[in-house]
Amino acid sequence: MQDAASLLSSVFGFNRFRPGQEEIIKAIVRGQNTLAIMPTGGGKSLCFQLPALCREGVTLVVSPLIALMRDQVRALQEAGVEAGALTSHNTDEENDAVFNALAEKRLKLLYMAPERLAAGGTLPLLRRANVTLLAVDEAHCVSQWGHDFRPDYLRIGDLRRVLNVPLAAFTATADSQTRAEIIARLFGENQPEVFLHGFDRPNIHLAFEAKDGPRKQILNFAASRRDRAGIIYCATRAKTESLARALVADGHSACHYHGGMDAANRRAVESRFQREDGLIVVATVAFGMGVDKPDIRWVAHADLPKSIEAYYQEIGRAGRDGAPAETLTLYGAEDIRLRRTQIDEGLAPPERRNADHGRLNSLLGLAEALKCRRQTLLAYFGESSEPCGNCDLCDSPPELFDATTAVQMALSAILRTKEFFGVGHLIDILIGNPTDKIKARGHDALPTFGVGQEYNRRQWQGIFRQMMGADLVRPDPDRYGALRMTDRARPILRGEKNITLRLDLVRKPTPQRPAVKALVSDENAPLLSALKAKRRALAEAASLPAYMVFNDRTLIEMAEKRPRTPDQMIEITGVGARKLESYGAAFLKIITGQETENPHPSRRKLTGSDAANIFDRLQEVQSELVRGADGLGKPMSCSASLLARVATARPDMQTISALLGQRRAERFASAFLDVLSQDR
Ligand code: ADP
Ligand code: ZN
Repeated sequence: MQDAASLLSSVFGFNRFRPGQEEIIKAIVRGQNTLAIMPTGGGKSLCFQLPALCREGVTLVVSPLIALMRDQVRALQEAGVEAGALTSHNTDEENDAVFNALAEKRLKLLYMAPERLAAGGTLPLLRRANVTLLAVDEAHCVSQWGHDFRPDYLRIGDLRRVLNVPLAAFTATADSQTRAEIIARLFGENQPEVFLHGFDRPNIHLAFEAKDGPRKQILNFAASRRDRAGIIYCATRAKTESLARALVADGHSACHYHGGMDAANRRAVESRFQREDGLIVVATVAFGMGVDKPDIRWVAHADLPKSIEAYYQEIGRAGRDGAPAETLTLYGAEDIRLRRTQIDEGLAPPERRNADHGRLNSLLGLAEALKCRRQTLLAYFGESSEPCGNCDLCDSPPELFDATTAVQMALSAILRTKEFFGVGHLIDILIGNPTDKIKARGHDALPTFGVGQEYNRRQWQGIFRQMMGADLVRPDPDRYGALRMTDRARPILRGEKNITLRLDLVRKPTPQRPAVKALVSDENAPLLSALKAKRRALAEAASLPAYMVFNDRTLIEMAEKRPRTPDQMIEITGVGARKLESYGAAFLKIITGQETENPHPSRRKLTGSDAANIFDRLQEVQSELVRGADGLGKPMSCSASLLARVATARPDMQTISALLGQRRAERFASAFLDVLSQDR
């Protein structure tokens, strides 16, 4: 049994664990029942894949989506791990390969869809297979109240009892109800150790913008991120189609995706997105669960998401490889009206509706935040943090102003017109615009008429939107969206509480956007493109998704560190022994501009270890001694495998002759011992 840290680098090519991974892995290796809650992209799969390699026998992985299972299996096989899946999409050959690997006790990870658990024959198969660990991905699928409920997940508890093995469950869903349900249904009387891992995704840049020519805003955002894979979420199906067309007209490769498309078309888009470099998918929220692409570089919301949870999950699809990723969320008064109406007109019971309004309020609070967005977001999930330096508000802090008087004026206009009017009419009153409607209703005689001329129409729109965001006023669907004051506004109206709003949204309609973040410095950019081109060629030749060759993060590190030898190459995050062997030479050639000679197999085995260095120095001193210290002797050398043995066994004065043999010892022993002693 190898230890987890060395497998982490030799198989997966990672230098260190991500936060939380190590404790979880240790607990699972010990045979502890565990429930791990980690954000999307936090690196859950590694938490069961690594223990599977450390433990005897087979780890059974239950996972809800066949396409994702197959991708994970391929990625594992690429890394040289014996893994297989039994799914309804398998060919007979694929099934046979899995059965053979099981029979020969080679298989380490067996993936299964939950439906399969119900099939006759599965239990006897698993009993024979020497399953020693049960891992359950997306464990919240066991919750009957969630959106992702999968009835077959309810069988897992029984399976655990029958196989009598430890169970490790994983989910990104944090709420305590779901957690309790998972524990009750999967673990029964065996309480798991629970790991709740932080929600921060520091590599994702957060930004919101008020809608102001929204189509143009999205097209601009996409235009400055050409050829980077991205998702644009829209509120309606029609919009996904029209926006995708606009992007194509702009020269992007883009397609749409929504629940109204038939299953085959949807799958086609999913697999195209998975495989292609730099495709944009314009989608409704239906696009999600089936997406497991680690190198999505950006996510934009053309419309406000449904809730803060939905927002977090949707942006969380970006940058799972840990390389920089960007997001942009657009929102406007229309969005707020739409979302409120959806809640009010929904079928949920009243207390649930209140909770939904509350969750929408949290999202609006984030949209209208006055300081670091990440702090605001993490605070919602109960985590406190410092200003992040990676959000639009940290990039350029908004100018604030005391808006108490302006808000009082607006509230007074609302109350004096009996809460029967929308924003446009209210603004006409505030700025003293005598329209026909104003005159017909006598609103030009109100004391509020014309009191707000300090601000223009656009500025008032910003104030009203922020008031809606702060839930001081709500559109009333029974009054065609007329604004009504909420209880939250009373203290402000009465002058008991002040309110601060953002001035930039009011006075500067188009804030300066910081420049697009480059993935690497200018000098390394051409190398990164060359590495990507190589990746594309290799991926196409092997019909693999590009990221399975190496993900973006790995290529970025290569472009920055420019490894020149296999030993330096294996230090790069994401380069394990197997991938070094498959692809190392091809990428080194791009970096150094020359062929790297294929090292002797005995030398290659040492790659990345301390012994590799020693081997190279032994080889150096021996080449100086080929004809002896005086250069006159008979040529003599040691084989590569002998040098490798010296490098790993590190003999001392007493034992070196036995290893080298008498004749070679006479010539090389003292020089070799020097090399070895320098290293101690
Ligand atoms: P999720 O938690 O969403 O299931 P994944 O398991 O798919 O996340 O991991 C997300 C990405 O992070 C993958 O590309 C994976 O290879 C990478 N990853 C996981 N652990 C590490 C690590 N210790 N170092 C570097 N990258 C890692
Ligand atoms: Zn910030």
